[in-house]
Amino acid sequence: MKTIGLIGGMSWESTAHYYAILNRETARLRGGLHSAPVIVHSVDFATIEALQRAGAWDEAGHRLAGIARALEAQGAGLVGLATNTMHICAPQIVAALGVPFIHIATPTATELRVDGIGRVGLLGTRFTMEKRFYIEQLEAHGLEVLVPDTGITNLNGIIYEELCLGVVRDESRRIYVDAIARLKARGAEAVILGCTEIGMLVDDSVSPLPTYDTTDLHARALVAAALG
Ligand code: GLU
Repeated sequence: MKTIGLIGGMSWESTAHYYAILNRETARLRGGLHSAPVIVHSVDFATIEALQRAGAWDEAGHRLAGIARALEAQGAGLVGLATNTMHICAPQIVAALGVPFIHIATPTATELRVDGIGRVGLLGTRFTMEKRFYIEQLEAHGLEVLVPDTGITNLNGIIYEELCLGVVRDESRRIYVDAIARLKARGAEAVILGCTEIGMLVDDSVSPLPTYDTTDLHARALVAAALG
């Protein structure tokens, strides 16, 4: 099994979930005491969030590409980036790497298509919902993508002011469930939890639509790729 390089810390709350899933999935597939060979480079999220707010995507991409290269130099056979939003920098990271980069949208779109979904709702940070970089990856797989037409500021604030700090509130869950219900009313057949912290708040037991959790799908895809 190849060593997985994981760029994490965005936020560390979701990276902790990645770490658990990588190991559980490896044990499930390989049995016994097998666990995932993984190198996690966990950043100080405050420095990355400041670059996001400043719109300094090139500088952020430069830093993440440097981390990706360092992971490769330490023996990573493939690299994953444990945040949807920062996949805005995926082209810079890919250009810096000699080993495969596993894009978070790829296993998500693949699973949706396997399940026969054509029109999907997307929840995430305002960057993920409002910019094109993420939606166009999904569209390339033949998906029609709906994002909320109201409440984006609120949905975004819950991610940065609560979930990334480990705060999970019933009132915020209600806001997310309402947003999913509105996507369903507009014709969405499923919803992508397109931020690696949203799974802390909603899952299939409360969602009006089937959920596709990018944290879970991405972490399991990293294990599959590492096993070849
Ligand atoms: N983890 C989040 C995501 O998947 C948001 C934090 C970030 O901006 O990286 O988009």
